[in-house]
Amino acid sequence: MTPQISIVVPLYNEEAGFNTLVNRLNALMDSFPASIEVIFVNDGSKDSTPKLMHQLALTDKRYQGVFLSRNFGHQYALTAGLSCVRGTEGVMVIDGDLQDPPELLTQYYKNYKDGIDISYGVRTMRADEGWFKRVTSSYFYKVQSKFSNISIPSNSGDFCFMSRAALDVLNMMPEESRFIRGMRAWIGFKQMPVPFDRQERAAGETKYPFKKMLKFAMNGIFNFSETPIRMITYLGLGATIISLLYLGYTLYKKFYLHDAVSSGFSGLLFAIILFSGVQLISLGIIGEYVLRIFFQAKQRPLFIISQRIVDGELK
Ligand code: UDP
Ligand code: MG
Repeated sequence: MTPQISIVVPLYNEEAGFNTLVNRLNALMDSFPASIEVIFVNDGSKDSTPKLMHQLALTDKRYQGVFLSRNFGHQYALTAGLSCVRGTEGVMVIDGDLQDPPELLTQYYKNYKDGIDISYGVRTMRADEGWFKRVTSSYFYKVQSKFSNISIPSNSGDFCFMSRAALDVLNMMPEESRFIRGMRAWIGFKQMPVPFDRQERAAGETKYPFKKMLKFAMNGIFNFSETPIRMITYLGLGATIISLLYLGYTLYKKFYLHDAVSSGFSGLLFAIILFSGVQLISLGIIGEYVLRIFFQAKQRPLFIISQRIVDGELK
């Protein structure tokens, strides 16, 4: 039977919390008024996650197993899962560590019935993260919304419900550099925030070390904004104007005040270092855009599914 709702869960080395996750999802499905399928996406885990997924999906038909050929990263695992959704009404996206309570589906589904296409979770409390992640993430959302033409609601993640219509649009977007919460904001439709308390990880540890987080945050800015490149132009204009003013001042000093140009080695050195820095940063900013063109131009698939288990059968 075709399910009404799909739940997509990307999993990367999540064996420690797997059973707790399945218990919570089973309880939700048993009591939910609509039919649900759960799509687990194994993102190239190195632990027993794929084995656990096999056992489950082969015995319980409510579970789909999607196995990627290697670790592609959270956003690509999510993209793969979204491409396998069969739910006729919509899809809920959650993390596999139970930081996003699956039970929020009740509220999401109520919104859906009221005509809201996209409901997204907004974290009111973050029990999970240390001060560093909290501070950096709150600054990220501020900077992102300053820079970008599409502002991503503060403290929202990928945890959301999307109607079939919204999902179809998202699935049609072929961009290589993926920042799904931004793409979700970009597509429009009727959207509504739903507050929730973000829990601690049920088990295991974060799969987003600082380096990955930084790269992810850069996508949030560069994928949705031309402001950084414009900034280079304005900076260049500003520097030119300042240098012209300085030229005027020097000539004035020489011809009217008959004062020779003061020679200052440290001043010169300072200017050279400053503008070398500015030029390197500018090159880097342009490079960010060029890189995105480079990866997009290759037109490689965003993910590779090596195996699937659908309706209890291996494909
Ligand atoms: N994840 C994934 N591939 C990766 C990294 C993470 O599929 O390369 C999954 C992970 O298993 C989890 C979700 O993405 O279900 C969010 O990751 P995590 O909880 O580590 O991120 P955090 O909550 O710490 O930001
Ligand atoms: Mg997490």
